[in-house]
Amino acid sequence: MTEFELIRTFFARQDVARADVVAGIGDDAALLQPPAGQQLAVTSDLLVSGVHFLPDADPFSLGHKALAVNLSDLAAMGAEPAWFMLNLALPKADANWLQPFCNGMFELAREHHVQLVGGDTSRGPLTIAIEAHGFVPPGQALRRSGAKAGDRIYVTGTLGDAALALRHRLGGIRLPEHDLAAVAGRMDRPVPRVREGMTLRSIAHSAIDISDGLLADLGHILEMSRVGARISLDKIPVSPVCRSHIGETGWDMVLANGDDYELCFTVPEQHAAALEKLRPACGFHPIGVIEAEPGLRIVDESGKPYQPRQSGHDHFANN
Ligand code: ADP
Ligand code: MG
Repeated sequence: MTEFELIRTFFARQDVARADVVAGIGDDAALLQPPAGQQLAVTSDLLVSGVHFLPDADPFSLGHKALAVNLSDLAAMGAEPAWFMLNLALPKADANWLQPFCNGMFELAREHHVQLVGGDTSRGPLTIAIEAHGFVPPGQALRRSGAKAGDRIYVTGTLGDAALALRHRLGGIRLPEHDLAAVAGRMDRPVPRVREGMTLRSIAHSAIDISDGLLADLGHILEMSRVGARISLDKIPVSPVCRSHIGETGWDMVLANGDDYELCFTVPEQHAAALEKLRPACGFHPIGVIEAEPGLRIVDESGKPYQPRQSGHDHFANN
């Protein structure tokens, strides 16, 4: 298969055809028409085999996740996703890998009505880099820097399931089959909280998506907003399966292992009622408050200070 055939066979065929794509795959560059008066939110994420995913990872899940992590970044900005680019290095042109990879990616693309508009393809160690673009009205993007003392801190969904599944796969813990079945999807096919992010535009002061663990990502909000926070472990939403393993793994797994792709956001008191009205399907849970004093204070179930041993995922830590 030539490079051109590969692009035509796997990437040029897709169900999404947006009116704002003047020219997509096939020319030297895509031509895109953003809506008048909106800002463009642009993000990219790099997935490297052996670093971000296990070399034998299921290609359908990889296709889903490669796009999902980008949509999650747009969600965290409150942006409405529109387009994406796919840069791919492949060891070989293997249809048995490419077909399920594309199925996973395009299924999620369809769900969010985002169109693949270009990219680049090369031979090389398996690496997937997607760049996604979305729209947000000027001044309405959710920034990391907007948190204010007194804001309530919330997270969507539940935390820790992806980390639990990863521990099982790496052999650190042995999950019974029904527990693994309950959490594996959270690691393999995260759900980007796109609609939730968009509805938070007029309500939240700040937001981030949790990709490196709550402590690290909430830490970014605190740092960029020049504030501190207090959170309670007993308020952190976890699934029943995750909760049943915390005795064994400790809370650090939930707080510092990342890959949740939930949103963490802060809301001023005066918007609490508006937030209650939203009631998104994934739910959201108050976990603490923003305080003027810098630093993150965590209290455990008995009200005593909790000192985490890990702070979050960092690719260059301890190098
Ligand atoms: P160029 O030589 O100008 O980089 P290519 O031959 O690499 O062009 O790409 C031809 C067309 O196919 C371009 O429109 C490019 O955006 C698109 N394309 C290449 N690789 C991918 C990919 N992995 N996914 C989507 N579109 C791709
Ligand atoms: Mg090229």
